Parts: sequence; structure tokens; C-alpha cells
Amino acid sequence: MSYWKITKNEIQRSRAMKLKPKILVVYTGGTIGMIKSESGTYVPFSVDGILDYVPQIYNLDVDIIVESFEKPMDSAFVGPEQWLRISKIITKNIDLVDGFVILHGTDTMAYTSSALSFLLRGINKPVILTGAQVPVYEEKSDGVDNFINALEIARQGVVKEVALWFCKTLFKGACVTKSDSKSFSGFSSPNHEPLARKEKEIKYNKSAFDKGTFDRVFFNIMDAEILFLNFSPLINKEIQAKLIRENPIQGIVLSVFGSGTVPLIKKDLLATALRDKNIPIIAVSECYRGGVEIGKYEAGSILNDLNVISGENMTKEAAITKLMVAIGNFKTDQDVRSYLIENQVGEL
Ligand code: ASP
Repeated sequence: MSYWKITKNEIQRSRAMKLKPKILVVYTGGTIGMIKSESGTYVPFSVDGILDYVPQIYNLDVDIIVESFEKPMDSAFVGPEQWLRISKIITKNIDLVDGFVILHGTDTMAYTSSALSFLLRGINKPVILTGAQVPVYEEKSDGVDNFINALEIARQGVVKEVALWFCKTLFKGACVTKSDSKSFSGFSSPNHEPLARKEKEIKYNKSAFDKGTFDRVFFNIMDAEILFLNFSPLINKEIQAKLIRENPIQGIVLSVFGSGTVPLIKKDLLATALRDKNIPIIAVSECYRGGVEIGKYEAGSILNDLNVISGENMTKEAAITKLMVAIGNFKTDQDVRSYLIENQVGEL
């Protein structure tokens, strides 16, 4: 682990002397820094390897400070504990640096960027997540380019929120999803325009920026007792009803068909279990693009009966992490519902 400590005085002095912007790079793991194990599988490796392999970062007009997870991980293992850890690293250093770059595995990066967006609302500094489909050590890696451009975006400081940079495109942190497991353009934000693209240089799409600013509200609690219930024509309603009845679930994200239909009628065991549980339920569409419009079809009117909140055009990643923040931080059902209905960070 490479770690340079900086102090508040040092930052103030460097600002007064117009020194280079300081960017804190948080290395969590992921393909970008992975190496092949003897058995041929990719395993996480130390951040020093990346720093050695991408020396170009030292030619950029930034001072880089690096903090690494003690044990870099495949993002399959990244969850609420790590989201809170990253957000704590950021809040601890917020007055000391000009921006942040988070190096992260691609598999769950959209969950982390969504979680950080809600945890760090109104941060007013760039927090740019990035990673790679191919490790920096391999020929044709996308990691070098992604890393350098993420640093450049953080340096420029035009986007002062959580965002995800991948394959020459900058997405809003709470609007992005992993949409391709192989191609270099692994991410998209189906219902929101990207914040920037790189042609010869980085071009910002100001019309995609939020109209107003969001007041700063940082959270450090998330409730993890959330169920993601994905409807399919094969859903076993009895099993799902039992699961809901017998577990201490605090909130549910329903992934529903199209613009908001489900194979449920009032007397179904599952509908009854959902009603009896009396917890916040939010619905998102299983469709890639478009979102839900509850009540459009008779086959979805049960969702109104069950008091289900419309997730509108939110991604599942945003709905899950928003619900976790809402339940973790608000006591009354009314406050949880208001938080969920309102646009918190441009996710709707
Ligand atoms: N399994 C890897 C991870 O998410 C995939 C990647 O980084 O592209 O950590």
C-alpha cells in the first residue's frame, strides 16, 4: 500500500501557492489491478502494481495520494460495509483534497456509485469511479485510459458529484448500470444522458447536469435487510410469501414487468404477505429503459393496493441503495416514503 499523508495546512498552503490539484485515489480492487493466478483465474493484486504500470499518471497536472483497501477485492464481495468504508474515507478527507478517484471492479461498480451518490449527497467535489474490463498489465487494457481520464475529470472539477467514468463516457453515479460483461463500453445510463464524453478532449454535456444543486446531506448508516424480488413468469409465490413472512425484512424492491405489471391478484399468498408485512416497497421495471408507470394496466393495479412506491425510471441499483439509506436513517414510514419519492441526487 502506498499512502502519503497530507494535512489541512499543507492543502491551504498549496492552494495559496496555486499548486496542482490533489486527488485521493481509493483502490478497492477489481479487474483493473488483477493478475492471473496459477489456476488461471483473475485475482486482486496490490495497488503498487497499478502505480508502477501506469507511470503516465505522474505526468498529469495533479498530486496523487493513494489509499488502498488492505485486501483489494473482486467487487462481487463489495457491499454495504465497503460502501460505508469508502464514504468514510471520502468524508474524512473532503477538506484536504480537490477530488477523488475510486478504482473498483466493474461487476458491482454501479451499486457502489449509486450508494455513494446517496450517502454523499451534495458533496460538491468530484468523486469518480472507474475500473477496467482488462487488467492494466495486459496488452489492450482499457484500464490505463480509464484511470488517466478519471484523474483528469477529477482534476478539472467540472462535475462535482459522484460519477462513473468508463470507455470515454461519464455517467451520473445513481443512474448507471453495467450493461455489457465483455465489451469495453461496459456501462450505460439508460434513462439519463451522460455527463461527458471524450472525443479529442473531454466534452461536458451541461444539459445533463442537474438544474439546481442538492443540499449537502451525508449519511453513514444503511439498512441491509432489504429484499430484491424479481418477478418472472415462473415466480413461486408460495416460496416468496414464506420468505417475506419468516424473515426480518425491512423493505422490498420489486422488479416488475414492463411499465408496472405483476402476476398477482388480491387473494394471492404473496400479495397477502406483502400487505401484512407493512414495510416500504418500491417498484422498478425489469426493462432496461423507460421505467414504471404504476396503474397504467389492470395487471399492475395491485401495486397501488399494496401502497407500492413508484421507482419511476430509477435503475435497480439506485432503488436498492436509496431504500437502504431511507430505512437506515428515517424513523417514520412517512419520512421514508417522502425520501423515496423525492429526487435526491438526480436519480429520477
Ligand atoms: N469480477 C471483476 C470485479 O468486479 C470484474 C471487473 O472488475 O471487471 O471485480
